[in-house]
Amino acid sequence: MYYDNETLIYFNGQFVKAKEASTDLYGQSLHYGYSVFEGIKSYKTEQGTKIFKAKEHYDRLKRSAELMHIPFEYTTQKLTDLTYELLELNNFSDAYIRPLVFCSPNMSLSKSKESSLTLLAWEWSNGYLANKMRIMTSSFQRPNPKAFLVEAKVGGHYVNSILACQEAKDKGYDEALVLDEKGNVAESSGANVFYEKDGVLFTPSKGNILPGITRETVFEIGKELQIPVKESFFKPEEMRGADAAFFCGTAAEIVALDSLDDVPFTKDWKDTASNKIQQAYQKLVRV
Ligand code: PMP
Repeated sequence: MYYDNETLIYFNGQFVKAKEASTDLYGQSLHYGYSVFEGIKSYKTEQGTKIFKAKEHYDRLKRSAELMHIPFEYTTQKLTDLTYELLELNNFSDAYIRPLVFCSPNMSLSKSKESSLTLLAWEWSNGYLANKMRIMTSSFQRPNPKAFLVEAKVGGHYVNSILACQEAKDKGYDEALVLDEKGNVAESSGANVFYEKDGVLFTPSKGNILPGITRETVFEIGKELQIPVKESFFKPEEMRGADAAFFCGTAAEIVALDSLDDVPFTKDWKDTASNKIQQAYQKLVRV
């Protein structure tokens, strides 16, 4: 359950109870997936609750809305302030925050004249870290960048994610590795991917992926720890049986992969550069 009788959300200019909020059913967002959103995390730190990379997330939300021609006037500062207020009102520290921008009633296939904003949050302390995920190469491809603006975080794109993730679960895996239309590794259903060989990290180049904020953080940590990180286009064969691999995303954080298509990653996780990145990330989000 994401909310109870007391949970507050921000909805179009005010804080209201989640269970009392309602919306129109005659809109493009519900019918066609024409909405933009973010996934953000806040952490309990010694200086109080801190939203990790709020600016990057809200800048991306604004950019996603712009790319989708969805009118959206909030500034990044205002969005950040509202989110801190939301966390405080609900008494949340370690939380997942879900801003959603959706369109007002209109079922035509043209741009929206107005939008609504809601900010939702629920308590979340990490459940993935201890796990190592078994993943499979998906039979689904990521959305073709000539059909969608893949760098935008758009509701409708996630129908593809649901298909890929559910296929993997139905086949007994934890998650899917999804390829682009050329058969190169792209990303997971909701996270970016890295693999490690001889102390070097490799990740798919931009173009067919959602360029994640966590992916960018991995570059930053790599630089600091002098772990080389390279972007390129590569096939799953190059990744299968590598020393180590991980998914990264705001929700997943840095999560180790156990195997790809039942072929294990070979190095003991604790001896990998990936492990160092995972540990550094855990520290960074809590300072
Ligand atoms: N790819 C996809 C498809 C995602 O949904 C996400 C999660 N937003 C990511 C990558 C990782 O992005 P971020 O690190 O910004 O959360």
